[in-house]
Amino acid sequence: MTKTVDVREETARILDTLGVAHSSWTGGDMPSYSPVNGEEITRLKAASAADAGRIIETADEAFKAWRTVPAPRRGELVRLLGEELRAAKADLGRLVSIEVGKIEPEGLGEVQEMIDICDFAVGLSRQLYGLTIATERPGHRMMETWHPLGVVGVISAFNFPVAVWSWNTALALVCGNTVVWKPSEKTPLTALACQAILDRAIARFGEAPKGLSQVLIGGRDVGEALVDHPKVALVSATGSTRMGCEVGPRLARRFARSILELGGNNAGIVCPSADLDMALRAIAFGAMGTAGQRCTTLRRLFVHESVYGDLVPRLKKAYESVSIGNPLETSALVGPLIDKGAYENMLKALEAAKTAGGNITGGSRVPDAGKETAYYVRPALVEMPEQTGPVLEETFAPILYVMKYSDLDEAIAQHNAVAAGLSSSIFTLDMREAEHFLSAEGSDCGITNVNIGTSGAEIGGAFGGEKETGGGRESGSDAWKAYMRRATNTVNYSTALPLAQGVSFDIE
Ligand code: NAD
Repeated sequence: MTKTVDVREETARILDTLGVAHSSWTGGDMPSYSPVNGEEITRLKAASAADAGRIIETADEAFKAWRTVPAPRRGELVRLLGEELRAAKADLGRLVSIEVGKIEPEGLGEVQEMIDICDFAVGLSRQLYGLTIATERPGHRMMETWHPLGVVGVISAFNFPVAVWSWNTALALVCGNTVVWKPSEKTPLTALACQAILDRAIARFGEAPKGLSQVLIGGRDVGEALVDHPKVALVSATGSTRMGCEVGPRLARRFARSILELGGNNAGIVCPSADLDMALRAIAFGAMGTAGQRCTTLRRLFVHESVYGDLVPRLKKAYESVSIGNPLETSALVGPLIDKGAYENMLKALEAAKTAGGNITGGSRVPDAGKETAYYVRPALVEMPEQTGPVLEETFAPILYVMKYSDLDEAIAQHNAVAAGLSSSIFTLDMREAEHFLSAEGSDCGITNVNIGTSGAEIGGAFGGEKETGGGRESGSDAWKAYMRRATNTVNYSTALPLAQGVSFDIE
């Protein structure tokens, strides 16, 4: 028999172990809930827009000192953060499960991602390089230098409550910036835990300016204060496309930089030659993992008519049998939805799919998986006659729409015919099909995979998507460049002053 976990007690134990001051997570008006049982854990103090202003001013002062610290030395702080995260992994991972409802391996996986990006950023701290470029003028040298930007604002979504902060913060810090983070109002406790972990690394580092990286607990108003403040040079905002539509233009109005990481409506294509056993497992994780609450969740599947009859019944069986349950007490593969609103959105989408001719497997609430106040649902597989209605939108819940295709180019056209452009996959053993999907005529997404699912990206690649996903890139590759400003320098070491393009301007 598994032990019944008291969510409040367990939260208090973890916050205490991670060194989060009791006064910071109690004694306010802002409620925090756990989707595991749907009950309130605590009420904490939310920041006001005026608090945000003060915190940003401190971050701006800290920036003036931090930008002069050599980058490899800044990397040492991030190395210490990685060490602290390794020590905190089990507790922080469990707190992610409590606050978001992720199953244990996914909660731990999210913290591992934080550790990985720290390692990446430490190496990066010695590789912030620019080019030397051939100049047309004799006795001259032309080069690029990269400089820190200033205060980086981070706005994050509920579903990756800690990893998104670390992707931004590890890079921003080695690049010489300071950070102010506004986490989702649904996940304040994991944010306080991250701040406590970083504060420990800062204490060990010993010489960081006050206000190097701070957290602002609060709602949309606090996010807006961050977006509008003239001293915030870059806002990296992760969340819905609706949020991006508000934040993007506001930042553009004051010519501030943005990294927008918004919604996805990700699809996969299963071709005649696909390894169906492999595809089945990849589709199951991509569509049902994290209870369908990943930005990269597989939401649409195009299956070739020749393998439809083989694959889809097996998929349905997986949907009917996948284990659903309390992530703190069971080893179930699917945990709860974040809240009632998410459940209602799921019902609405399923209703619309039915009206459009969809045939639904699953999708009902699983009441015995948790309390009345929690929302555990069986993931839904919906066979659709065509791509219409709810299929064209992201519903942040475990719904997979399955459609039949006969011609690959037509399937790719359907694949690209949605507003979002985050992640995509093709399952094929035919090299021509795979390369076609990866080519300029293929998938229009920021992440395009062959024989793996749409979700579960590694930190080494640049992460993000096109169209309504916002166009931002975070994490690996050269995503660091978004956190720095580039200066082109031309140095004249000759005794003449030749002008570019042969222009003459002789004043005598
Ligand atoms: P959300 O848009 O409701 O909230 C995200 C964050 O934005 C929260 O911190 C919220 O307080 C803040 N916010 C909302 N409106 C704001 C405004 N006008 N000004 C400033 N801040 C504002 O998203 P959510 O429900 O927390 O997360 C789910 C969504 O996030 C899904 O659409 C998912 O696809 C997307 N997401 C995208 C990525 C990615 O990398 N592309 C990653 C994770 C989640």
